[in-house]
Amino acid sequence: MSHAGLILGLPELEVERVDRNDVISVYARPKHRPCCIRCGHDHVRIKATYQRTWKHTRQGNQLITLYVRSPKYHCQRCGRYFRHRFKGVRPRYRASEAFRLEVFETHDGGVTQAKLRRTHTISAATTERWYQSYCRARISEMSNRPCPKVLGIDEHFFSRKKGYATTLVDLHRNKVFDVRLGRSEASLHSYLRRLPGKDNVKLIVMDLSETYRSIARQHFPQAKIVADRFHVVRLVNQHFLNAWKVVDPEGRKNQGLISLMRRHEWHLSTDKHANLQRYLSEHPGLGALYQARQKLNRLLLLKNLRKPRAQQKLSILLKLIEQLRQTPLRKLAKTLTSWLEPIVMMWRSNKSNGPTEGFHNKMEMMSRRAYGFRNFENYRLRVMTHCGWDGIINRV
Ligand SMILES: [Zn+2]
Repeated sequence: MSHAGLILGLPELEVERVDRNDVISVYARPKHRPCCIRCGHDHVRIKATYQRTWKHTRQGNQLITLYVRSPKYHCQRCGRYFRHRFKGVRPRYRASEAFRLEVFETHDGGVTQAKLRRTHTISAATTERWYQSYCRARISEMSNRPCPKVLGIDEHFFSRKKGYATTLVDLHRNKVFDVRLGRSEASLHSYLRRLPGKDNVKLIVMDLSETYRSIARQHFPQAKIVADRFHVVRLVNQHFLNAWKVVDPEGRKNQGLISLMRRHEWHLSTDKHANLQRYLSEHPGLGALYQARQKLNRLLLLKNLRKPRAQQKLSILLKLIEQLRQTPLRKLAKTLTSWLEPIVMMWRSNKSNGPTEGFHNKMEMMSRRAYGFRNFENYRLRVMTHCGWDGIINRV
């Protein structure tokens, strides 16, 4: 018994002859006669045969072309006519699924259409069509998966005409879960309402955005909200720099001082620290604010705390916030109080929206390389294929 068909990946075929020239030509025919596709009767007559030509995978650097004698059958019981159906090749297609998959994965791996035209002798348009069809199939498969355990949510700019889009990131697997147009509750409502497996979500990481918080409370009521560390620290710094402007407008314009003030205390060298202390001693009110801010930042950068330590730190934070209420930073104190629970959750976990911001960077590059997108669906397809999965289709 010949195993040639099995080696080709099309076990139903019986190989008759192989020619090896510039390309490998394999002549084959089906091994077995099928039963009738309508009534299941096993006695069918071959009415005629015709030749099907398929491109099949490459062996080494040579392309395999299959010439298959394909029969048309006639069922003698029910009178139905039908053509032979091959596993691994779709009706009317001129390439096997294995070949299409090979082209898809090669193109996804970065080989250009121009090069594929020479190695696989298919046109750029065909490559593009196959690539898109696989991407679409894969993404529609993914649309029913349940929500991730740790969800990152953030907005990013899409286009001037259509405005902002919301990114949902699976922070456990570090993959984009989905992108949706709009950043308001109203524009996301119908999508979020239909989302399957929302109970899976245990943590939602977000920046200090009121809209996303209300979305999370409404659609993921059992999930805990975690504030994004970077955004909280940035907020503190912004409030501090604004307060500085009020105390000493002249000093606030000094570039050197700004750079000293912006950095964390523990990143300053001894000289620079001394310089800063000299300046702060001239403005005693500012010095106190600076100390409070350093203390606050130290607290905010904590992570992976166990419950008793978090409780201990919470009482320190509450005292600090109470002190801030008496200073020009009272607005900051108000915001921190309103986001107290997400900030405490930030201590308990080590998740942040860093990967989400990283994906935004990547998306911006994609958009830039395509000279912008007009159609959001096309943009979403592109984002999902590059950031949503690993580009490998699992064969079953
Ligand atoms: Zn029949």
